[in-house]
Amino acid sequence: MRLLIMGPPGAGKGTQAAKIAAQYGIPAISTGDIFRTNIKERTELGQQVEQILSSGGYVPDELTNEIVRDRLTWDDTAPGWLLDGYPRTGGQVAFLDGTLSAAGASLDAVVSLTVDEDAVVQRLLKRAETDGRTDDTEDVIRERQAIYRQETAPLLATYGGRGLVLEVDGMGDVDEVTARLVAAIDARTGERD
Ligand code: ADP
Repeated sequence: MRLLIMGPPGAGKGTQAAKIAAQYGIPAISTGDIFRTNIKERTELGQQVEQILSSGGYVPDELTNEIVRDRLTWDDTAPGWLLDGYPRTGGQVAFLDGTLSAAGASLDAVVSLTVDEDAVVQRLLKRAETDGRTDDTEDVIRERQAIYRQETAPLLATYGGRGLVLEVDGMGDVDEVTARLVAAIDARTGERD
């Protein structure tokens, strides 16, 4: 099972990715988490990307692609994987396409979590306050939304053209959203059994 989860910052991708991954016995791989762990551990990669993350911009494709390529060679990916926060650019889509076809593999589905942008900005502001994340200012949050809209949202059309996209309403209770996601994925992957 190879899945992507896409949606704007604050849509709850990380939370849902962990639950879906547990449901299907596959690892949830979040490029954002990988970057944040490296920043916390002060690795060379962490120092390279720290400024980029705090500004809300995207890490260059060459760096991000290599990290994903390496992560997809780990033993835990044998049953499949769920990528959260990757691909985010056209270059990353092309790279993932190449990696998959070299392995004779393909994607099963791309789940798109749909949310209302204003609701999401409010959610992120609240989280910034309660977690004391002072770098998560409204400006940076709005900037992330804008970059998502410009760079990443169009990728849904690319995957949509391949018939891979499953749109799921991301508003509401966490468990309710998980149930919707699992139902959509089961319906899709069951179609081919
Ligand atoms: P959010 O859901 O708030 O966007 P993520 O954890 O997915 O948070 O990503 C946090 C940050 O990590 C992004 O704003 C970006 O700087 C960087 N990042 C994560 N994934 C990618 C990617 N695929 N390409 C480029 N930058 C990325």
